[in-house]
Amino acid sequence: MAYLTLKNVNKIYPNGYHAVHNFNLEIEKGEVVVFVGPSGCGKSTTLRMIAGLEDISSGEFLLNGERANEKGPREREIAMVFQSYALYPQMTVYDNIAFGLTLQGVDEDVIEERVKKTAAILGLTDYLDRLPRALSGGQRQRVAIGRAIIRKVGVFLMDEPLSNLDAKQRVTMRYEIAQIHQETGATTIYVTHDQTEAMTLADRIVVMKDGYVQQIGTPYELYFKPANVFVAGFIGEPPMNFVRGKVHGGKIQFGENTIDLSAKLKNAAAYEGKEIVFGFRPEAIRLTGAENAHLIHSQVELTEMLGDNTNIYITTGDSRAILKVDSHDTPETDVPLDFYIPFESVYLFDGETENVID
Ligand code: ADP
Repeated sequence: MAYLTLKNVNKIYPNGYHAVHNFNLEIEKGEVVVFVGPSGCGKSTTLRMIAGLEDISSGEFLLNGERANEKGPREREIAMVFQSYALYPQMTVYDNIAFGLTLQGVDEDVIEERVKKTAAILGLTDYLDRLPRALSGGQRQRVAIGRAIIRKVGVFLMDEPLSNLDAKQRVTMRYEIAQIHQETGATTIYVTHDQTEAMTLADRIVVMKDGYVQQIGTPYELYFKPANVFVAGFIGEPPMNFVRGKVHGGKIQFGENTIDLSAKLKNAAAYEGKEIVFGFRPEAIRLTGAENAHLIHSQVELTEMLGDNTNIYITTGDSRAILKVDSHDTPETDVPLDFYIPFESVYLFDGETENVID
């Protein structure tokens, strides 16, 4: 039996806005599940329904197999870490971490033992006497996480916990959150709009758009088997390249390139005269001749040397794309460039539904 279950969960706000549509998910104990999607897609609303901070308009939320829709936030044994980590500025790190237990009237000795253990997990042992203002952003966020994990609840909910940190701190904290999870093994639901955070932290990712779940899967599944154009374009950096074209005689044309789809499109006749979306990832291309690959003629517009690799911005006809190559292979700008897309790295989507064509 799943630990947490959401069955056909909907959220309609009092103003009539339907923010979450038929959300279905089962989460196992110990899993890290990340909700990802652009701002406004319903991630926080779903998380807040799980926390008991928002009513569920219809559908069911089960905890350990039991209906929990009507349970208040405290009864759910869930701890939440918010975006703004609002520590008490006049309290030391020790008192901030201990606060929840102190309120509950837990024995001083027990509190001390648990604060010390929590601080050790979070690398805060040397900072327990400090006030929050004497900590870095990353350390403050760790104190906020400490306040949650000291409660030893079954589930942690994290709503964009790294968004107040700078890029470098985010990378460090991402690693630390993964380590904290290894130590505690706690079931975690994590909300972010950042696909890199989702890919690196998640056991499974739920991709959302406009209140609808687009796909649920492991990072590997979402990257290699995206269900539709949206997921394909959202997961991966730089994003997948897409070219739209009408199928004629089992082929599509862009720029001076004619692509024979027979290697990938099993049912070419059904798509004759219809538009399809041809997708390939920037990092999937090759610059030298390859068997079983499409040869593409293009023009280099711009290159970005990023250290170990280079992004090449190319055009072919009216289409644009980004190629990612080893930086030793950086071409000149404004020159023609031929490259190869291996057949197995091609994704085809229905031009109308935008769903992947199997
Ligand atoms: P995300 O976390 O993915 O950025 P939210 O769950 O916060 O998105 O919001 C989803 C949608 O619901 C947004 O369009 C937002 O404007 C709307 N929304 C959020 N809270 C309310 C509310 N209290 N009343 C009406 N609409 C809301």
